[in-house]
Amino acid sequence: MKIVLFGPPGSGKGTQAKLIAETLNICHLSTGDILREKLREGDDISLKLKETLSSGNLVVDDILNQIVAEKLFDKNCVNGFILDGYPRTLAQSEFLLSFMENKNIEFDSIFNFKIDFKIVKERLLIRSQDEKRSDDNIDVIKTRLNKYLEETYPVSEFFRTKFPHNYFNIDASQEISKIQKELIKILKKG
Ligand code: AMP
Repeated sequence: MKIVLFGPPGSGKGTQAKLIAETLNICHLSTGDILREKLREGDDISLKLKETLSSGNLVVDDILNQIVAEKLFDKNCVNGFILDGYPRTLAQSEFLLSFMENKNIEFDSIFNFKIDFKIVKERLLIRSQDEKRSDDNIDVIKTRLNKYLEETYPVSEFFRTKFPHNYFNIDASQEISKIQKELIKILKKG
């Protein structure tokens, strides 16, 4: 099963991706988690990454494409994967689509999490207290939401027109368990 999740930061993609990955025994590829893990290495690259993540801007495409290409070959991902936070730019989506085409792999489902920005801002501020993430203060949250609108929303629109039969809009303001049921129902139908 190959799944992609789109949606603004704070829309609950990570929570749902984790649950789906456990239920279907597939790889959860959260590029945000992978990058945060890399920060702990403390080398020159990680210092630069830290600066970018703390500002709410996007990390350069080459780094992300390399990370994802490596992970998709991982033996843990033989059953499939769920992409959470990638692709986030048109350049990343071009890379991913040509990578998949070369390997003869197709997406099963693409989910677009729709939610009011007012709700995500509140959620992200609460998360900033719980998880102490450096990218969850109000100014950085605004940058992250703008990046989503400028860079990632066009990618999800591109996927919507390219894969109209596998693309599903999800109301992400619902309860976690309700969304999870909806996603599993769609995945089982496919
Ligand atoms: P997330 O946890 O998915 O919200 O990601 C946290 C941060 O990691 C983002 O604000 C970006 O700085 C960086 N990041 C994660 N995924 C990507 C990506 N696909 N492209 C560029 N930057 C990314």
